[in-house]
Amino acid sequence: MQRMDDIASPRRTKEIIQRHGFSFKKSLGQNFLIDQNILGKIVEAAGLDASKGALEIGPGIGALTEKLAREAGAVTAVEIDQRLIPILQEVLEPYPHVRIHHGDVLKTDLGALFREDFANVSKVSVVANLPYYVTTPILMKLLEERLPLENIVVMIQKEVAERMAASPGTKDYGSLSIAVQYYSEPELVCIVPKTVFIPQPNVESAVIRLKVREQPPVEVDDENFFFQVVHASFAQRRKTIANNLKTRFFPKEGRERLEELLHAAGIEPSRRGETLSLQEYATLCNVLLRAGVRG
Ligand code: SAM
Repeated sequence: MQRMDDIASPRRTKEIIQRHGFSFKKSLGQNFLIDQNILGKIVEAAGLDASKGALEIGPGIGALTEKLAREAGAVTAVEIDQRLIPILQEVLEPYPHVRIHHGDVLKTDLGALFREDFANVSKVSVVANLPYYVTTPILMKLLEERLPLENIVVMIQKEVAERMAASPGTKDYGSLSIAVQYYSEPELVCIVPKTVFIPQPNVESAVIRLKVREQPPVEVDDENFFFQVVHASFAQRRKTIANNLKTRFFPKEGRERLEELLHAAGIEPSRRGETLSLQEYATLCNVLLRAGVRG
């Protein structure tokens, strides 16, 4: 439900910023949300209730944090900018189940934070309007650390959202799509115009939901090697999979062995990396490993 004096209302946002003499830092990706409808959509997509927790990355002046506090049983927010901490403590004072941590989320021990702050909730989702300069490292940290997450609902750059949700054979499909889809099921929630932020960013935005998988959808013998194969296959997008793999894994050999292995995985050597499904990459990784190929 939205109220007249919500933090996210343009009037209240301006008042808080002026009273604290706050100035935006572009280098920290500070674009604050001032649209109640969009905030409502983000929170709704996370499917929170009083038995669940929410982790917010980069709460800014608390516009989204306040909405999360009204839905979730426990809310923890990690903010890098020390100047915002006293503002957050003031505006979120009415919500005792909100905890504010000062720090860089990329350097935070999230496992320890989960054990400490979310001991009394059944499930936790990450809900955030992410700083765009570090979107991918933040999302990969959340996914790779295998935190016990239900959903990750985030506002990110539209192009990045499209790449994460892309299917094989499309121009947006690449190693980021495969990494994200290995750990989660992505779904585009909505496209967001620049006008809902102050200051307005230079790029278009989108809200994406990643439903975190309990198990990857494919079996790979060695995850590290799997991602090496994926990265190598997209090293030069216009080259065939055989050429890309040759450069990375068989630089001194003839093509015969590589082509044999590709055929054993059911993959035509003339295909391009962008046409292979997650399952095909998994099969290829396991065939290469079992033939003794290493990274
Ligand atoms: N949640 C607020 C909103 O929607 O209005 C602010 C979102 S703003 C796009 C991104 C926020 O992330 C800023 O408050 C910024 O200071 C913070 N931030 C940037 N880098 C961060 C990092 N590495 N760790 C934690 N917070 C970070």
